[in-house]
Amino acid sequence: MTDIKSMNIPELTAFLKEMGQPAFRAKQIFSWMHRGARSFDEMTNLSKDLRQKLSETCLLTAPTVERKQVSALDGTIKYLWKLSDGNCIETVLMQYKHGNTVCISSQVGCRMGCAFCASTLGGKVRDLRPSEMIDQVLFTQLDSGKPISNIVLMGIGEPLDNFDTVMRFLELVNHPDGLNIGMRHISLSTCGLVEKIDKLADLQLQLTLSVSLHAPDDETRSSIMPVNKSVGVERLFQSCRRYFEKTGRRISYEYAMIDGVNDSDRQADLLASHLKGMPGHVNLIPLNEVKESPLKPSRRVAQFQKRLESHGVTVTVRRKLGGDIDASCGQLRRKRELEQQH
Ligand code: SAH
Repeated sequence: MTDIKSMNIPELTAFLKEMGQPAFRAKQIFSWMHRGARSFDEMTNLSKDLRQKLSETCLLTAPTVERKQVSALDGTIKYLWKLSDGNCIETVLMQYKHGNTVCISSQVGCRMGCAFCASTLGGKVRDLRPSEMIDQVLFTQLDSGKPISNIVLMGIGEPLDNFDTVMRFLELVNHPDGLNIGMRHISLSTCGLVEKIDKLADLQLQLTLSVSLHAPDDETRSSIMPVNKSVGVERLFQSCRRYFEKTGRRISYEYAMIDGVNDSDRQADLLASHLKGMPGHVNLIPLNEVKESPLKPSRRVAQFQKRLESHGVTVTVRRKLGGDIDASCGQLRRKRELEQQH
């Protein structure tokens, strides 16, 4: 079966041409799919014959809601979607003053092995397809009735470990006949796959790159993020610098504050020295506790922030949303897995 929603317009045009269809059909079908049609039968401006042929040859993905949790504190909605093969992924809808933001997953599970993260506990099951990434935005919008203006690729998975899919997703979600979400409204978060950051820099997209740094020295970073063992902080910052030079876009550095691990003044000083001469922005995240992990939230967030600011670094502390609904980092998918084991 052809995964038709993963196609771009040129591919769709060629595919339909082989079925003897004119070029304008591609646009018609593209906009039906990206408005959330769940079957070809809904595409009423196509002939019955064509609809029949498409349903015989193509898979039109549409996930179902496996679980939905709404935060009583701030209205954050967390979806656990069931995909066509039975795997589940998480999507979170956050409501901010500047608009509704959806946090989407890029893989089923993750193979990066970060010590503080629940998404990686069961390893990686498979990559998502472009259609399955689009569906998270599309069906979250349809189910919630909230128009989505911003996307962050900060859900389950490492987006740069599924590079081609993520690039196709960006092309599709950005398309004027589709969801039409501008690159400047999209953030991509990575644990630091340097060759892929370099490749992304060459594309000169206007999206925001977030780098999950979490420690400024190799000893600490390698102890909590296995990806650092082969690369190192120096090399990571080289790629960050290159990214900024190529795109002119400021990078945002994610830093989950962990008690006694990465929250010392010495580490704040070192972090500031890495950022010298390169506009960037540090986002301090109060650690979300994961049951299986011994790591605890830091009690020095405010001091660490002050120390960074004393070096002229721009710092924000992330506001916690959806604290009552397991709304972070693979926790809901994990909970379901554990419940099914028992
Ligand atoms: N793989 C990508 C995107 C997914 S994780 C990446 O590493 O950036 C999204 C963000 O949540 C990352 O910055 C990640 O490090 C952070 N994160 C994961 N588990 C966390 C936890 N328990 N507490 C706080 N932040 C966490």
